[in-house]
Amino acid sequence: MELLRSLPGVGRRSAERMALSLYSWDGEKLDALSSNLHTLKQRVGKCPRCGNLSGDDSEDGLCPICASPVRDASVVCVVEEAARIRNIESSGVFKGVYHVLGGRIAPLEGRGIDSIDADGLEKRIAEGTIREIILALSPDVEGQATAIYLARRLKERGVKISRLAQGLPAGSDLSYADPATIAAALSGRTSFE
Ligand SMILES: [Zn+2]
Repeated sequence: MELLRSLPGVGRRSAERMALSLYSWDGEKLDALSSNLHTLKQRVGKCPRCGNLSGDDSEDGLCPICASPVRDASVVCVVEEAARIRNIESSGVFKGVYHVLGGRIAPLEGRGIDSIDADGLEKRIAEGTIREIILALSPDVEGQATAIYLARRLKERGVKISRLAQGLPAGSDLSYADPATIAAALSGRTSFE
């Protein structure tokens, strides 16, 4: 129960229900879960191009989105965490690729520019195939500080920089937005000034 409680959104009662439910599982099902957990870190890695999660069966370790021939590699949506990709994919409107920063800038908490993968993004832009960067960061202070930093840094690179249209509730993040809201925010994106 203690360990289950460290999962997001799981309180004491839910952890208790989960633990009791696990106890009622048969041995085979428990073994399957346990071996999946045991090999999780070996089987799931990070995409070397975008930082999304990727399986060990993929070519060059690329995630399914980077490896897909139908995705438009000239449009890159920049997100804080890999989990956001799932939210944006659920809207079904984005056909480009992603870049995962792995965090955001929070100077007051001692998290500076080294805490995000801006170098990786810059390197990808330097390869010359990217024409638009969409900054899909949280609409809170840290997310916006990160967006402003990136926009300034990438300005000289000759790519179009845009951000999601307003519509996401202030202070909330993409993980709580429904697919229709994300779709509207993406299609109504505005140029970053
Ligand atoms: Zn990828």
